[in-house]
Formats: sequence, structure tokens, C-alpha cells
Amino acid sequence: MLVLKFGGTSVGSAQNIKKVAQIVQSFNEPLVVVLSAVSGTTNTLAEIHCLLEQNKNDEACKIIDSLELSYHSLLDALYASEYYQLKALTFIRKSFEKLRKLTAEQEILAQGELISTHLFEFYLAELQIDAALLSALDFMSIDAQGEPESEKIKAKLLNITEETSQDIMITQGFICLNHLDQIDNLKRGGSDYSASIIGAALNAKEIQIWTDIDGMHNNDPRYVDNTFSIEEISFDEAAELAYFGAKILHPQSVIPAKENNIPVLLKNTFAPKSKGTIIKNCEASYGVRAIAAKDGIIAMKIKSYRMLLAYGFLKKIFEVFEKYQTPIDMITTSEVAVSLTIDTPTHIDKIIEELQAFGKIEVDNNMSIVCLAGDFSQNSKGISASVLNCLTKIPIRMISYGGSDYNMSLLIDTENKAEALNLLNKGLFDKATLKQTQLIEQFG
Ligand code: ADP
Ligand code: ASP
Ligand code: MG
Repeated sequence: MLVLKFGGTSVGSAQNIKKVAQIVQSFNEPLVVVLSAVSGTTNTLAEIHCLLEQNKNDEACKIIDSLELSYHSLLDALYASEYYQLKALTFIRKSFEKLRKLTAEQEILAQGELISTHLFEFYLAELQIDAALLSALDFMSIDAQGEPESEKIKAKLLNITEETSQDIMITQGFICLNHLDQIDNLKRGGSDYSASIIGAALNAKEIQIWTDIDGMHNNDPRYVDNTFSIEEISFDEAAELAYFGAKILHPQSVIPAKENNIPVLLKNTFAPKSKGTIIKNCEASYGVRAIAAKDGIIAMKIKSYRMLLAYGFLKKIFEVFEKYQTPIDMITTSEVAVSLTIDTPTHIDKIIEELQAFGKIEVDNNMSIVCLAGDFSQNSKGISASVLNCLTKIPIRMISYGGSDYNMSLLIDTENKAEALNLLNKGLFDKATLKQTQLIEQFG
């Protein structure tokens, strides 16, 4: 059993959906095919919900109309026969009639994946490929904390797949039911997470994430030129990069695969022959393997009113964050102060108010965490120095090192992020620069 997930761009046009069908057909074993919404649809649905909330119903209607029209053109280009064009058209009309009546955000957002999976099922049927469409809402669920209910999901999925005779099973990424049995989702980009949860539940041989790039790159290709695809990377390194901003993977998506030791292969839908990246249990590489950055970070410095950090000071601080269910990403301490970062501003005012009992608070907004994954174990020498050497021009607010063997993180102002990523790329990966550094080290 393999789990194959195709992202928004991969199902973003009739031409691309045809490519996905070709890839699916190239396998000779049972498959669960997890699909995202057609690219742009979830953003548009979010916009529609936003307008409805502001009572701008006319504007919302206009956007719904134009979204529906975009699907009409997709159907024209996708199906060869009148029969399937009509079938799909009737389905789209019904889906949009339903959408026009919805008001709950999560229900609106769910429509994208519900539509794409049906359209794909119709397409495979037109090609006379026997496939089953499984509703993710029949097995994918989260608890009151928003965590996937692994055991329940496993039991339900095993039942469903046992009862399904088809070798190709299509299902929706992203969507699930919550503890109140309402439609919910695994957060934006969550189809990767769905695939990993399904792979773990079914003990799949491999989870394949098919996207629009040839695997995990050594740096963020949206900000840096000359990035390259990494052949293999460990679960821990990949998890760290995903959490700290490598958009190719949803932040939590590596965890279920790692816990069940199921390799994750990242592949390019538009270049199926290129190797991609395998995420598996492997040694950390020598030096830095890859870099990612996460924006929207808030840094807080709590300066103790007493000269020395008293026993229990950190505990009291952490309790405030726990009370407001706000995770801390980075932390550094000195004798008199502690600096930490959060990425959820929801309860920040209350958190600051309570922290003021312990010390003076300074807050910096618009910060970014730059995460470097690789071999940062105690035995590795000079790596942190080479990282910092690249950034002599960039003000650094915090450094986190030693928390794990495979990661080092730096906190910088977001306005310096692109420059920092480029400088690190040049200093750590550019062959010409590396050669020059080696020569200088060798001959002075
Ligand atoms: P999908 O819609 O298939 O889920 P995403 O847009 O979520 O695709 O993720 C793929 C994109 O992630 C790429 O097009 C690329 O711009 C971006 N990306 C950011 N960091 C990385 C990285 N380190 N390696 C590869 N892609 C990355
Ligand atoms: N369609 C959802 C989103 O755009 C989930 C996904 O694509 O992974 O966030
Ligand atoms: Mg994605």
C-alpha cells in the first residue's frame, strides 16, 4: 500500500489533473490518493467567508460566481465525453448551490477538496479506471485540542479499506471532523498531514508527496536562487525544517511518518523522473543540510525585577504560556533575563499583563526564525562558526544551539530575512565560495 498526495498545483488545471492520472496509473499496487483543492480555491473560499462575515454578501456572491465559472472551463478541458462533462457540470452546480448557503468557515473551506476529489473520480471513471472515493469525513478526526485521533482513525480506515475492492482509493486531504462532529480541517497546507496520518494508520510502504518542485531544497527557493534538491534527509531534520517554514511540508506532517518509520518521498508531478527527496531514518549530514525560515514571530524579553533569576522563575513564566495555550518556539536565558519567541499573537495582551508581575517586558514584532538543519552534534566542529561568519552584516536577536543534535536557529528581523538566507546560501553551499574558504584555510 502506498499513499500518494497531490497538492494544489498538481490538480490546478485540466492538463495537470491528466498528469496526476498518468502517475496514479503507473503503479501496480493498492494506492490511497489524497488530493488538495485546485490551487487558489482554498484562498478564494477563505476570502468568501471573510466577506460574508463583514456582511458583504454581494461581493461574496460575485466571487462565488467567478469561482464557479473557473470550474466550468476546467471541466471543458478535462473531460472528453459529453456524458462526463454533463455529470461533472451537474456536480459543480450542486456544489456551488450548497456553497451559496453555507456560513460556517470550516464548512466553506472544505468545499475545495470535496470538489477536486469528485472531479478526479469522474476523470478516472471516464478513463475506465476503477477507483473508489472515500470520504475523509468518515475516518479523519481531531480531538478537542485539534490533535488527530490516531487510534480511531486507524480503526475506521482499516475497516473502510478492507471493505473496498478497488485498488485505487481517492480521498480528500485537509478536511476532518472535530470533537463536536463538525467539519473542520488540519490547518492550511494540511493535505500533507492527512497523507502522513493515513500512511501511518495503514502502515503504508511509503508516503509520497507530489508537488510542483523536485523535492526538498537546501534553501527557500522563493527567496534564494541556485537552491538544489536534497537527495535524502532524516525525519528529524525534515520535521525541524517543516516546522520552521519549509512550505513544501505542513509543519506537523513528518511526525506520523516518523513515529511509524514510514519513508516520505517528495516528488515533482511535472518531472516524475527526477529523484526527489527521501525522508527516512538516516544519519544527519556533515555540516548544514538545509535552511528554512518562519515569519510572523514575536520575541519577548522578560527581565527579572531581582538581579538574579530566582529558583522557579522560568516555571512561573512557562505557566503563563501554558495557561494561554501559546507554544514557545525559541528560548535563551541570561542571568537576569529570558528571551523567548511565540508565533501566535492571539493572547499576547493577557500574557504580557501576567508576565509583568515577574519582570520588565520588551516585545519585538515582525521577527523571523532562520532554522538550519544538519549535523550540529557536540562532535561537529566549526559549523556554528561558519554559520555566524556568513551573517556578519545581519543583526541577530537570539541564537538557539544545542537543543537538539540536528538544528540551530537564529532570530532576526523579517526585513533582513531574504538577505540572510542568500548570505547563508552563498557561504554554506556555493561551491566557488567554499573552495575559496578552503584555500584560505589551507594557505592563509
Ligand atoms: P502543494 O500545493 O503541492 O502542497 P506547496 O506550495 O504547499 O505545494 O509547497 C511547494 C512549494 O514550497 C514550492 O513551490 C516552493 O516554492 C516552496 N518551498 C519553500 N521552501 C522549500 C524548500 N526548502 N524546498 C522545496 N520547496 C520549498
Ligand atoms: N487546500 C488546503 C490549503 O490550501 C490544504 C492543502 O492544500 O494542503 O491550505
Ligand atoms: Mg502544501
